[in-house]
Amino acid sequence: MKNTEASANPNSTHDAGSPTSAASPGGRVKTLVILGASGDLTGRLLLPGVARLIASGRAPGLQLVGAGSDDWSPAQWQERLSGSFADAFSLESDSSSEGREELQRVQEGSSYHQLDVTAKGALGEFLATVEGPVALYFALPPAVSQKACETLLAKELPPGTRLVMEKPFGSSAESARALNATLAKLVPEDHIHRVDHFLGKSTVLNIMGLRFANRLLEHSWNSEHIEKVEIIFDESLTLENRARYYDHAGAGRDMIQSHLLQIMAIMAMEPPATLEANDVRSNIAAVMRASTIGPHGSTDFVSHTRRARYTAGTIGDRQVPDYLSEDGVDPANDTETLAEVEVYVNNWRWAGVPFILRSGKALGRTRKEAVVTFKPVPHLPLGFKGTDSPTRMHIGFGPESLTLDLDVIGPGDLFTLDRVQLESELGSDPLLPYGEVLDGVLSEDPLLSVRGDTAEECWRIVEPAFAAWKAATVPMEEYPAGSTGPETWTTSGD
Ligand code: NDP
Repeated sequence: MKNTEASANPNSTHDAGSPTSAASPGGRVKTLVILGASGDLTGRLLLPGVARLIASGRAPGLQLVGAGSDDWSPAQWQERLSGSFADAFSLESDSSSEGREELQRVQEGSSYHQLDVTAKGALGEFLATVEGPVALYFALPPAVSQKACETLLAKELPPGTRLVMEKPFGSSAESARALNATLAKLVPEDHIHRVDHFLGKSTVLNIMGLRFANRLLEHSWNSEHIEKVEIIFDESLTLENRARYYDHAGAGRDMIQSHLLQIMAIMAMEPPATLEANDVRSNIAAVMRASTIGPHGSTDFVSHTRRARYTAGTIGDRQVPDYLSEDGVDPANDTETLAEVEVYVNNWRWAGVPFILRSGKALGRTRKEAVVTFKPVPHLPLGFKGTDSPTRMHIGFGPESLTLDLDVIGPGDLFTLDRVQLESELGSDPLLPYGEVLDGVLSEDPLLSVRGDTAEECWRIVEPAFAAWKAATVPMEEYPAGSTGPETWTTSGD
């Protein structure tokens, strides 16, 4: 089954939509091929995610093949698998004995192949030896992935091949568009999985379940009732020896351009008719198309964005050096470690409501949540005392949770308002984030994968602000490691 549809329309970034294009002849991916098998992502995140998925019984009959430019012996590959699978083997609660047997089978049957994926014909010849349908995971440096795709031909791909692309997807709207065009020559859009491991199934479905299954919320989910939405991913982790990547990305490219915009779109999207990939991804794309930093037409990035960098400080009992003195950091890159942007979704539902996206490293506490602040009531009867605070809803991402802050009459004086918090856990998946992503890939469901047009739009939204940062129009502020950020930066709940 070759992709004539994609060849006929190489620029199409929309779901192919036809039932035959979404399913391979076998109905499920048979072989997962990891390119970049010796790399950091594969060892630390991807293989442990695969292992938990296999051990949970959700990837029956899967074969695993690794490929990389290193000349690894079979024993070296087995050693890597043993290291990365150890956690899944030891998890009694998640892995039944059948799950562990299946994991053992996959490990013993797995092989490693030395391969320069950028050499003309090499990847295509290799794929001819692999049983399809194949999921081809590009765990490679972005430039190498791009070159590998350029050397591939559609006719070299086994029927039903899925291409799995890591972030960053391009480095600008233009380069994302070019990469999309290359991929569209190979497979249909719904066979391309642009991975965003923050788009775990539980995160997406928890937000959608809350919004669309509760009339109370859906009714008030608009600019008439909501003052602002904050999406916050603060972490206490510092650079952790990742200067080679992070010093070129910074908090803006690492987090806001991809993960936080995706979560924003799920918070802001119109109700989809179904939970099918086509419906959900089209509504996500519509939000992205409507979004700008600052209100539509604004070029005031000083008012609508902020950036800062950590200086020496203490996190717990850990002494953290100044970011600029960390190994591998080049001060000339002028990299921010904390960023905040105010996005406006310029449509009927959200006119005038800021979506504040913030993420940073080396902060005093880990905080991963969306905070929805509702507008004040039109009139509070005179006579109430105490603090009149806005209704707030917090959706926590890891642990998945819901907290609703309400004003009620507290204990004691019956005229005095007091704050209560109604709390609940939300559903979560025992799979690791990469296990959740791979579950979608292997079951051939692109629901959690970023669609091509959305990947381009994400760059289009942030590019003008990043240009202003590069030109130093927006000042670089500082905060001591272990603090909550620069003193003047406050968020709801601080
Ligand atoms: P690494 O540099 O650790 O690994 C890259 C891998 O690519 C190595 O196995 C390398 O093999 C292989 N490789 C390079 N050139 C070739 C080639 N021509 N042919 C075959 N294999 C080649 O990178 P990471 O694992 O950190 O990152 C991989 C991707 O994942 C990147 O796109 C990154 O942005 C993304 N990512 C990484 C995360 C992380 O935490 N590491 C998190 C999220 C995304 P060899 O060593 O033999 O050259």
